[in-house]
Amino acid sequence: MKAKYNKKDMEVLADLWDKTGDKSLVCPQCEHKMVIVQVEPIHDAENAYIPYDTIIECTSCDFKIRAESFSILGCVKNFNLKHIEIASWSPSGSRVLSRYEHILDYELLKKLKESAELKEFLIVNKQVIQVIG
Ligand SMILES: [Zn+2]
Repeated sequence: MKAKYNKKDMEVLADLWDKTGDKSLVCPQCEHKMVIVQVEPIHDAENAYIPYDTIIECTSCDFKIRAESFSILGCVKNFNLKHIEIASWSPSGSRVLSRYEHILDYELLKKLKESAELKEFLIVNKQVIQVIG
């Protein structure tokens, strides 16, 4: 089970993000695509997951947003059009149910819930934006 990312992994993530072409990743100024261009781990002993200081930058103009991102390994317990519940484990091994807003595809979530497959979810500013792997 992979719980932490090194810098290289996060660069891979940035690539994935770019490929989705989701409308929430469109620059509000010029409507071009936005990508993650820089990430550093935030040292926060209280957080069960490793959050990253993340900069999401437009590929065309100079618009950028600072955000916090992290990923959770778990499976889809429940979902609707707006929210998703992810069943995962805390670092101590106890079961955790986390609820987030999401921008994921409804059909994809349906499939993931039925299969109960273990997946990694990328969360940016408390919103699930992508399923990795
Ligand atoms: Zn732009």
